Amino acid sequence: MSATGLPPYDDANIFARILRGEIPCRKIHEDDHALAFHDINPQAPVHVLVIPKGQYVSVADFSASATDAEVAGFWRAVAKVAKDLGLEQSGYRVLTNMGSDGGQEVPHFHIHIFGGRPIGRMVP
Ligand code: C5P
Repeated sequence: MSATGLPPYDDANIFARILRGEIPCRKIHEDDHALAFHDINPQAPVHVLVIPKGQYVSVADFSASATDAEVAGFWRAVAKVAKDLGLEQSGYRVLTNMGSDGGQEVPHFHIHIFGGRPIGRMVP
């Protein structure tokens, strides 16, 4: 277990394989710090995932271990993708799942962007 209660990074996870080009994705944006692509099982008219290029299991791992340049570059990519998809006018939601209680399925840190309709409140 890592300090965050999750297993160490496993580079066989599906997003690591997408980053290596072993599995296809519907790419939207790529830069030095981030890759964005359409979620394979969309939960909204626009449902995009943004992942860092570095090997981070979760938001906790990313926040603790990524460089300032990685953190800034990643979050700028999240906002740019939402803007480029035309979501700024009506708004959108960003979300990350962390660990088992958070419902995280893929152990490579990722941000979901939901938009294209009123998303409604998702506070449990
Ligand atoms: O946050 P969580 O780990 O639960 O979300 C993983 C997301 O990755 C899911 O929304 C799933 O549809 C998506 N996914 C994907 N492409 C894959 C595998 C999973 O978009 N090849």
